[in-house]
Amino acid sequence: MKKTVFTLAIISALAVFCIMLAPKQASITDYAMNTVITVTARSPHADKLCQKALDEVHRIDNLMSPTAEGSDIYRINHAGKGSFTEVSPETYELIELSLKISEKTDGAFDITVNPLSELWGFTSENPSVPSKDAIKDLTQKVNYKNVLLNPDTFSVCLAQDGMSISLGAVAKGYGASQAAKILEDGGAWDGIVDLGGSICVAGNKRIGIQTPFKPRGEYFTVCEVSDTSVVTSGAYERYFKEDGKIYHHIIDPKTGYPAQTDIGSATVISDNGALADALSTAVFVLGLDKAEDVLSDFDKVSAVIYTADGRVVEVSGK
Ligand code: ADP
Ligand code: MG
Repeated sequence: MKKTVFTLAIISALAVFCIMLAPKQASITDYAMNTVITVTARSPHADKLCQKALDEVHRIDNLMSPTAEGSDIYRINHAGKGSFTEVSPETYELIELSLKISEKTDGAFDITVNPLSELWGFTSENPSVPSKDAIKDLTQKVNYKNVLLNPDTFSVCLAQDGMSISLGAVAKGYGASQAAKILEDGGAWDGIVDLGGSICVAGNKRIGIQTPFKPRGEYFTVCEVSDTSVVTSGAYERYFKEDGKIYHHIIDPKTGYPAQTDIGSATVISDNGALADALSTAVFVLGLDKAEDVLSDFDKVSAVIYTADGRVVEVSGK
């Protein structure tokens, strides 16, 4: 009799233990980096893990937001011409990567377009078309070559008056991949971190790619991926209409106007989330022909491009 009770007790203890360890799915939605963030994970501790991943996104936002007083980017932008600002190694690395992409794209990708993004009001609630003169004036100040780096001290300097930088085209990809790493390190079975189209996946997942200018959730393709980043840039996410014309938030640094492109959206897949993000913006500005050239410079990178006339073109890197 005693033995039976004992066995039953062991069995129920094991059952409780198994229930505690059974993977649960949790999902949290929040707002940071100027976009809606969703973190989803399957793990016995899914709630905690999602929150931890979200905290990581907020940490990176606080480090790299151009508007948060005291952030690395804020301090660089407010240091005044010619003075070096010491930043975290993470910020330094993303700026270095951004400058490398600028070199490879002959300036189509350029983090010094920030004064133009501000002029157009894409960083505000009420964007509008600025005057031609104002655009011309600020376009002359855009030049990634005037961002100077000191690798010994992780310091960054803007060499001309009126310059400022923003990592808006690269930090979300970085944030998504760092947050996904938290899910992985925490033992999640799988998970997805989605920062408004900058997605990083832990484990195996299917990711639908949005058809530009169609209702949300209407996909033109679905990618099967594992442990990688899938980042989409397009004209359809942030734009305004004035006099019947669409003005979107990805700017051609040469003209100061929203990039005229034959691409509706560019999705880049890479294990490096920051690179995928930077390249998706770069490819969008460059257009289809030059995209193939630029992507061929990078290892283990591929892209799915939805052209402005509705064709789907797949491009792979090296
Ligand atoms: P999203 O912000 O919608 O994810 P992107 O990753 O393509 O889209 O980044 C767009 C952001 O990058 C803009 O909001 C702006 O801050 C910045 N940006 C705009 N044009 C350029 C450009 N030519 N090069 C680098 N950054 C840009
Ligand atoms: Mg980008």
